[in-house]
Amino acid sequence: MHDEQWKAIVNCDPSYDGEFYYGVSTTGIFCRPSCKSKTPKRENVRIFPSIDEAVKAKFRPCKRCRPDQERRPDEDLAHQTARSIEQHYTVALTLETIAKGVHVSPYHLHHVFKRIMNMTPVDYLLAKRLEEAKRWLSESNRSVTEIAVSVGFTNIGHFSTMFHKKTGMSPTMYRSSHFKQISNDEAMMDGRNDVLGSMSI
Ligand SMILES: [Zn+2]
Repeated sequence: MHDEQWKAIVNCDPSYDGEFYYGVSTTGIFCRPSCKSKTPKRENVRIFPSIDEAVKAKFRPCKRCRPDQERRPDEDLAHQTARSIEQHYTVALTLETIAKGVHVSPYHLHHVFKRIMNMTPVDYLLAKRLEEAKRWLSESNRSVTEIAVSVGFTNIGHFSTMFHKKTGMSPTMYRSSHFKQISNDEAMMDGRNDVLGSMSI
């Protein structure tokens, strides 16, 4: 086994899925690199280039990461949902509307998403909104209210509360400690005013 493969197993790195599989000699089970099951001891791991090789060596597919199934519907659903949230976070979204967009029940989506992404769809949405808000606070002169609305909050009080809860400071405090100061002269000289102007559409 290469160090690179071992690293992929330890980090449950999904980008190696399909490139190799690993079996654990003590359990007789084989997994995809991304499997979230407990990291095995390195000396017990065997690498297989394909499912066939693993089966031939008498390993059984893991029930959790299902290396024997070509499509992983739950994972597809979670990733599709994450992409949808990233594209639509600026509009009013709820668990219900997110679920409707991917054609499953809110209950089902909540549980599948949480299992695969380790957070709920609503938490994921909130994290995306706050990440964008932080960016605006540190890179633009837009007012806090304007930023709150532009990242999908309808209630400025709710925005401030959630911001404080997740970052430990108010939006204004965050801005004063993170703002990337651009003096007017400099901005005029290199045209950054225009850049900021066109970004705030
Ligand atoms: Zn597994």
